[in-house]
Amino acid sequence: MKLTGLLIVFAMMALAKDVDFTSNLPAKGTFPAKWIHGSKSLLDNKDPQIQVHWYNPHTVIMRENKAYNYEGAFMYLYFGNERAILLDQGSTAQPSEWNLRKVVDGLIAEWCQRNGRDAKEYKLVLAFSHLHGDHYAAQNQFLDRPYTTIMGLTHEEMVGFWGMKNYPDERVEFDLGGRKLWVWGNPGHIDSEFAYYDTYTQILFTGDMFYRGRCYIGNFGLWMKSMEKLVAFAAKYPVAHIVGCHIEISAKGEDYPRGTTYQPDEPPLQMDVAMLLRTHEFAKTKVKGPGIYFTGDVYLCNQTRGKTTIDKNPYVY
Ligand SMILES: [Zn+2]
Repeated sequence: MKLTGLLIVFAMMALAKDVDFTSNLPAKGTFPAKWIHGSKSLLDNKDPQIQVHWYNPHTVIMRENKAYNYEGAFMYLYFGNERAILLDQGSTAQPSEWNLRKVVDGLIAEWCQRNGRDAKEYKLVLAFSHLHGDHYAAQNQFLDRPYTTIMGLTHEEMVGFWGMKNYPDERVEFDLGGRKLWVWGNPGHIDSEFAYYDTYTQILFTGDMFYRGRCYIGNFGLWMKSMEKLVAFAAKYPVAHIVGCHIEISAKGEDYPRGTTYQPDEPPLQMDVAMLLRTHEFAKTKVKGPGIYFTGDVYLCNQTRGKTTIDKNPYVY
């Protein structure tokens, strides 16, 4: 190594101070007033492929452009002193169409530069909420990234990845280097799903199990148990925001039918504990068998697989 190279390494080591992820919690952050939300003409869409929003200097929320995929998936990148974790990898696999890897590498380079670390050796973990293709499609783009660990695509691999012995009830802690994530089983939408709580921002990520849209419930018994766990968790621990993977309703509570690529009147992504409690109470008292139910906040599509569009009458199935 040349002297200049050595000097750069020494300078970076001198700069690399550990970030304190445990004081003054929750770490505050902001959401954009409006997310990019598609366009009338997808051919003329000028928005970036992936919207990048720094919630705070150590936390990124990204959204997939709806012109590339109607799912408009949200993804979360949390930085720690040792590694970052990318929760969900969107709906589009092909890097020539939608390059998540490039965006994430750029964000890692930016964070590492700001925090005196070598981006080439900074670790990345790829995990996701559940085994549906709109949540890990771009995982393949990271296969050749050094220092990268990827959660597998079977239930056994996913549970094993977190070292869980008692899914779904066991809660494990995952250390990003001073920044702790708590992970536990959150099934009901499908059988293999996880909830992720970031102790730094106190953001609770509930995947497709609970979000502002059509919560497709594959197994109502499992889903109710997961809801009860979320309610109990929120009673015991502070929750700043609850976030999911999609937005599928308007601010007035109208359903944007499946496949919609232009959603001009979206509500915020984030939800609060009161909304979780209302949804749980509604499900407990009003959901009687398969059907589509509007709670006032979200749609509960209980065992309606194949009948996913609510159309004009959300209350009748
Ligand atoms: Zn989804």
